[in-house]
Order: sequence, then structure tokens, then C-alpha cells
Amino acid sequence: MQRKKIIIFGATGSIGLSAINIVENYNDHFEIVGLSAHSNEFKMSEICKNFQPKIILFSNPDLETTFNKSNFNKEIKIFFGPDGFAELLNLDFDLLINGISGFSGMLPTYYAINKGKDVAVANKESLVTAGKLLLDKAKSTGSKVIPIDSEHNALSQILNNYNLNEIEKVILTASGGPFRKDSKEMLSKRNLKEALNHPTWKMGPKNTIDSATLMNKALEVIEASVLFSMSSEKIEVLVHPESIVHGMVSLIDGGVISYLSQTDMRVPIFNAMNFPKTCKHFITPPNFTQLNFHELNEEIFPSISLARLALKKGFIATTFFNASNEIAVASFLRNKIHFTDIFFIVEKVLFSANAGDPKSIEEVFEYDRFARNLAESEIDKLGKK
Ligand code: NDP
Ligand code: MG
Repeated sequence: MQRKKIIIFGATGSIGLSAINIVENYNDHFEIVGLSAHSNEFKMSEICKNFQPKIILFSNPDLETTFNKSNFNKEIKIFFGPDGFAELLNLDFDLLINGISGFSGMLPTYYAINKGKDVAVANKESLVTAGKLLLDKAKSTGSKVIPIDSEHNALSQILNNYNLNEIEKVILTASGGPFRKDSKEMLSKRNLKEALNHPTWKMGPKNTIDSATLMNKALEVIEASVLFSMSSEKIEVLVHPESIVHGMVSLIDGGVISYLSQTDMRVPIFNAMNFPKTCKHFITPPNFTQLNFHELNEEIFPSISLARLALKKGFIATTFFNASNEIAVASFLRNKIHFTDIFFIVEKVLFSANAGDPKSIEEVFEYDRFARNLAESEIDKLGKK
């Protein structure tokens, strides 16, 4: 059997390592030909001991001067700096898995789609900012965009069997994060250590904070709207602390179809890696004897309403939403702002966004840069209080 040739961007992160674990377990099905990390030389060298990628990339250009080549096999080509993404995608490959965190993952998604290659996208920021442009491009190049985000992977599996006019609404589940029982008062006092302690999912720091603020779910509402061509009114969020049910589709005939799996990202990643086939996995179905569902209190967590507002304005606003959230989270991770300041900064920046959509990838970059500067200045103002 021909092995599927895989490139993994963000290989040293939570998603990347889960994908690598799948290749380790199914090395008769998959072959890693290229990998990227930003700066984590040590983890990358560990990965390369078990696999022989043709090319690896460190997207942080500063690493080149201090880099220790002796930790890597001489056969492996090593690139530095973000220009290497396009170079790496010249390899002969079947699927790119994009597990980069943040907006830096958008251009690599675009490059792969532009080449007509299939992309399994964990990097939701690609879809939140340039999603419409990316999907339009995919239509013309024949590239398939397969969601890895567990909710979207679940929903796309269900939605593949229905027409849009048969769908009443889709429901994204949210664990609710570590503060789901908080009052407004309690939430405003939460610190970094508490926010980094997620109850069900093990993820990178940005995603973990996004889960605590529910900004992750807000980004996912935008992601779902882009992927499934649905207005935000048709996308609901339901708190489900066990994170076993990932998505539900409510049909016009009164039925609801749901997708369940263990809280392990190797399920949606495996599904995306095998798409469109369904293959035997070592991860077993979940136990679902005790599942709970609650409504989200949007008074306490304004994230979802902010995402809906952004979607109403258009993709300039969703780019502002993402950029301001990235800047606010980075600032919270450095202990510069309070937890609930994140909502305030995103709201402030969002109000400055014009209605409409970016016309090109270059414009997405311009809007992203503009919104980042706005967010920085809002943070400076907070500091002066
Ligand atoms: P991590 O922080 O664990 O990993 C991020 C990866 O991206 C690392 O390999 C890192 O390299 C690399 N990276 C960091 N900064 C840059 C940059 N500026 N340019 C290029 N590469 C960079 O993140 P996660 O794996 O948690 O998340 C990745 C994406 O997947 C996010 O978009 C997230 O929303 C999404 N996602 C994650 C889930 C999860 O369970 N983790 C679930 C669903 C979606 P280095 O290690 O060298 O810094
Ligand atoms: Mg998710």
C-alpha cells in the first residue's frame, strides 16, 4: 500500500505531537516528509530521531545563528524563517496538517490551498481571518479543507449527509472552561495560574486561555459560519462539561444528530488524516452514561455575542476580533492585564472595524496589523489607569 505523505506544521505543539503519535502507531499508512516548529530545537530533534523527514523548518529566523546542527541527521535539509513554508510545500506530499497556533498559521494554509493540496486545519485563525478567501481559492484549485477542531470535524461528518436547507441549526458544545460556574465578580479576579488549568483538554497556552474566556468557542462560531456557510443565528453554543458530545445538528424534521468521542484530539486528527475514508483506530468509543448540558451565561461570558457582532460586520471585523484577542491573551500571559480585560479590549477594537470583507490575503495582513496596534494602544491606556 502507498503511504500517505504528510507534512506537519506546528509539529512540536499539542496538535502536532498528537498527529505524530498517530503516524507512530500507523507507520504503514503514513509517512512524514516535512515538519515545522517555531523555535523548539530540542523537541524537533527528538521527533527527528524517530522519523526521517526530508525537510524541517524553524519559522523563527533568529534561531539560525545559535542552532546546533549536530543534533540532526545530516540527510535532513533545514530551513529557517517563515519564507521556508512555501519552500517546504514544494515537497511531494498528499496532506498538510496545520497545527500552528495563531494568525502566523494563515499564510501556510493559503500556500497549500493555492497549490491545490489538501489541508487538515487545526489552525482556526486561518479560517476566522481569511476563511472566505481560502475556501474560494480551494474551490478553484481543488484543494480539500478538512477541519481538525473537534466540533467542526464532528459537524462536518454529520453535515456531509444533508443539504443546507434541511438544517435548522448546528450546536457547538463548550466545556465551559475552568470558570464556568463563576459569577461576574469571581471571574474578574481570576489569575493566570487558574486560567491555565483546563478541566478536560490539554492544549497550548493561547488555546487554554481562549477556553477559559470562551473566546475559543467564539472563534469556533466564526469558524463554523465560514466552513458551513451558515449565519451566526443558526449556530448555537451549549455548555457540556464532559466534552464527549462535540457537535449536534438539528434538522428541520425535528430530529437532532450528534457526534460523540473521547476527549482526545487524536480522534478528529485521525479522521482528518484518513479523509474521506473511515479507518480502525486504537482509541475506543467514549463512555456516555453521564452527560450534562447547560446554557451559557452570555452576561458573564460576552465572547460569543462579540463573535456574532463581528460576523454581522464581516471578515474585516472577524480579523479584528482575532488580532485583538491574540494581543490581549499575550498580554494576560505576561501578567500585564486582568482576565476580564480581554473582553474589554476585543470589544473596543471590534467597534473600530468597518463593515465588509478583505479583498485579498494582503488586505487580511493589513487589517490584522492595524487591529493589533489598536489593541496595544488600548492595553497601554489600561496600564495608565
Ligand atoms: P501549541 O502552542 O501547543 O503549539 C503551537 C505550534 O506552533 C508549535 O509547534 C510552535 O512551535 C508553533 N508556532 C508557535 N508560534 C509560531 C509562529 N509564530 N509561526 C509558526 N509556528 C509557530 O498550540 P496547539 O497545538 O494547542 O494549537 C495549535 C492550533 O490548533 C491553534 O490554532 C488551536 O486553536 C488549534 N486547536 C488546538 C486544539 C488542542 O487541543 N490543542 C484543539 C483544537 C484546535 P514551537 O514549539 O517551536 O514554539
Ligand atoms: Mg474545538
